[in-house]
Amino acid sequence: MQGFRALPSIDQLLQSDTGRLLIEEHGRAVVTKGARLRMDAAREAIRGGADGGAEAARLPHLLAADLAAAAQSRLRPMLNLTGTVLHTNLGRAILPDSAIHAASAAMAAPLNLEFDLDGGTRGQRDDHLRGLICDLTGAEDATVVNNNAAAMLIVLNTLGLGREGIVSRGELIEIGGSFRIPDIMERAGARLVEVGTTNRTHPHDYENAIGPDSGLILKVHTSNYRIEGFTRDVAAPDLSAIAGKSGLPLVNDLGSGSLIDLSRWGLRREPTVAEAIAEGADLVTFSGDKLLGGPQAGFIAGRRDLIARINRNPMKRALRLDKIRIAALEAVLRLYRDPDRLEQRLPTLRHLARQRQDIVAQALRLLPQVGQILAPLGFATKMCDCDSQIGSGALPTDTIPSAGLRLTGQGGDAPDRLAAMLRGLPRPVIGHIHDGAMILDLRCLDRDDDLLTALVAL
Ligand SMILES: *Cc1c(COP(=O)(O)O)cnc(C)c1O
Repeated sequence: MQGFRALPSIDQLLQSDTGRLLIEEHGRAVVTKGARLRMDAAREAIRGGADGGAEAARLPHLLAADLAAAAQSRLRPMLNLTGTVLHTNLGRAILPDSAIHAASAAMAAPLNLEFDLDGGTRGQRDDHLRGLICDLTGAEDATVVNNNAAAMLIVLNTLGLGREGIVSRGELIEIGGSFRIPDIMERAGARLVEVGTTNRTHPHDYENAIGPDSGLILKVHTSNYRIEGFTRDVAAPDLSAIAGKSGLPLVNDLGSGSLIDLSRWGLRREPTVAEAIAEGADLVTFSGDKLLGGPQAGFIAGRRDLIARINRNPMKRALRLDKIRIAALEAVLRLYRDPDRLEQRLPTLRHLARQRQDIVAQALRLLPQVGQILAPLGFATKMCDCDSQIGSGALPTDTIPSAGLRLTGQGGDAPDRLAAMLRGLPRPVIGHIHDGAMILDLRCLDRDDDLLTALVAL
């Protein structure tokens, strides 16, 4: 039994072989701080009766483990087996290779972000995206900001500051978090004028609301819920005619806003941006990282004079995109010029369009191997059908048939225990709990090995 005297001094610890290696790796300041904490803990343990020699022997290993843990990035690559393809909490869209390369190149070297290579004069950062967006949507002009919430903020502020924004009561949505149409309208400095009722809004409701203080009419795509039964809303072309008669701009917030018709891949039809433009919206706003499959961004496409006003709003500077995302977005938008190969190249579409039988085959391949890893831990593995979701504000009841693995164990807390174990992996695996089991929906699993490699660490 040895006491405190068995412990080295901080200096001795730092000058030991392990100490020197750790300093090489983590830097002196961090290692010194970590060593002090570990030394205090060792003294505490000895005071509580622990053996000094044993504590001294453990010290370098514990210190190395502390430092390795602290050096890990807090952001961790994971496997999204939730079945929700565009999961906001898991970072939404996975970017295509071309976008990843473009973003890396933009980070690594100076580039012509706001520089016109032809004339040698100042350029605009939007120039790199404008042509592509206009081509793909039929819009006259376009600009891009931080996300679709920012797009709405700047549009409402530009067109509605000190004026009225007219919205149907059936479209006063909450997207999630603290994003609600009435709140964003207020923060943008516009006065909300609600028209119609929750289930029915008529053309004359809009017409009666239009007055000298009106600034815009806002139409919101209500993708995350559905009102059924005795309902009526005013279609965009009719609303465009009403707005046009009074000289008011019609803004259509599409939310997900697909650039192409997804029914081609067997998915539910979402209104496309080109349709919204063709139906007479003066401005259309939509997200970059929902169905579009790119990085977080908010697009505003539409009339040239209105886009020019938005670009003159001082908020634009606060909400603009950086070079990394502009580079990535440009690469993503380019993929849309070849719709035939889009599924192959764009991960979001690949995941959404994956056929059930393909996922079933993957589940069959993985079943024995995953079963072998989990059986010794007391969990049984079976195949199951599941329903994937698009996510990010798409209707939760609009599901896509999928397949996966159903993991069960003894005791009511088995799913939660397993969920915690899977979260604790070096590459965390996130599924969802349903009916007393942990479900791993394989729709977004690109390679079998990714799951097996992750699980082996159990
Ligand atoms: C998702 C969504 C938004 C917000 O878009 P972000 O890109 O997440 O900021 C706004 N409006 C609608 C209708 C949406 O679905």
